[in-house]
Amino acid sequence: MATSIKDVDLSDKRLQEILSVANDWALCNGTSIKSGANGVEAEKVLPAPYSLFPSVVPAPILEHAKSTMTHFNRLMHKVSMDHEFLEQSLKNVIQVDPFMLSLWNVYCKVRESGIKQPLHLGLFRNDFMLNCLDDSVSPGQIVSADRLVLKQIEFNTIATSGGGIASQITDLHRLSLGMAGKDFKPEQLPDNKPAVGLADGLVKAWELYGNPRDGDEVALIYLRDGYTAESHTSQKEWDARLKCELSRAIKCPSVQLQLAGAKKIQQELTRPGALERFVSDPQVVNTLRDTFADQYSLDLNQEGDAAVKLALQSPEKFVLKPQREGGGNNLYNDDITNFFTEHNRSKERSAYILMEKISSWQQKNYLVKPGVPFALSDVVSELGVYGVYIGSADSEVVNFECGHMLKTKIHGTNEAGICAGFAVLDMPLVI
Ligand code: ADP
Ligand code: MG
Ligand code: MG
Repeated sequence: MATSIKDVDLSDKRLQEILSVANDWALCNGTSIKSGANGVEAEKVLPAPYSLFPSVVPAPILEHAKSTMTHFNRLMHKVSMDHEFLEQSLKNVIQVDPFMLSLWNVYCKVRESGIKQPLHLGLFRNDFMLNCLDDSVSPGQIVSADRLVLKQIEFNTIATSGGGIASQITDLHRLSLGMAGKDFKPEQLPDNKPAVGLADGLVKAWELYGNPRDGDEVALIYLRDGYTAESHTSQKEWDARLKCELSRAIKCPSVQLQLAGAKKIQQELTRPGALERFVSDPQVVNTLRDTFADQYSLDLNQEGDAAVKLALQSPEKFVLKPQREGGGNNLYNDDITNFFTEHNRSKERSAYILMEKISSWQQKNYLVKPGVPFALSDVVSELGVYGVYIGSADSEVVNFECGHMLKTKIHGTNEAGICAGFAVLDMPLVI
């Protein structure tokens, strides 16, 4: 039975054959990316970055991650409906972060104008790393589920990606493992089609809007962009966003759901008592809290000062995160030191949060990606779980989990965005 790719004995010739077939398969099956997106020569279609073989995830870990998703969906929706919590959490951020302030201003105008559309659609992805509790484990060594802990990296509420291509990677891995002569049971590479669930969410929202004359009225607005300052080059984009938000259409996400996905909110949710504000079942509170890494506010007060001190003592133990999406925005190591040297006592630091750096279980895999040597490498994976939620201030209409994906990167690489060029698409080999 397949356990790890480390113990597959492949000649270089066979490996190149598998790579060649896998690349062809990727191109023939739409697992592709237009070059230029990753800084390589433009106008070519290349296989989307992928791992040649699946990375291992123990079944209880995968099941646990998936089983928490409906609770996380509901939590984040409720957060987005709680004006007081949003305001309290974001009040210092919006003083120093113009992008967040602009989003906040749109949100305030929507609030002032009264509710035009009570329903909000969330197509979410909750990202975790698998933290290994055992320091003596060497890269590629199989670890039992009880030595691994799921730690949430972030919860995405806007433009969650990878759901379509994810299902293709499962088929690609069936092919590559088969060619490598590895036996595996069908349930080890389970069918997994997040895009079907996400599309179902869009259809359900359209149905709930309740006007089949679509050609006449916009029922649903889905934002694939709008999460970066760069995507708003002038007031025009903000005016368009406001127009969307003030309309009767169901928004995915609404501006308040986008705000709820901020890293600052994630940090505020780690405070004692914060989860209890939204979740009444103490068992669920504990289950969700167990996935939280230590996080620190950097507001200009004693608490923030203490966090700065911690970060300056051991910058290698932390990640410094601004309120941004899409990868490539966080600061690490010397950049943390430099940032706090410059902003030690300035309120600009409130635009960031400090997070404990998760040390992730290392495996062995071959990453297929321009600029990365094709060799058996030490890699780490991030597990993403997809979910769909539709609800209003006082009702839950749709709530389900709809699949998963892995993003895998060379160990020691800080970021992990696929479009941003750091990671590759992967799928769990369930053991
Ligand atoms: P973004 O919204 O830009 O994707 P993330 O919070 O996911 O922001 O951070 C980007 C990447 O940085 C993650 O995919 C992960 O590889 C790395 N990262 C983020 N937080 C941590 C952490 N606490 N420990 C280790 N790596 C992290
Ligand atoms: Mg994100
Ligand atoms: Mg991320």
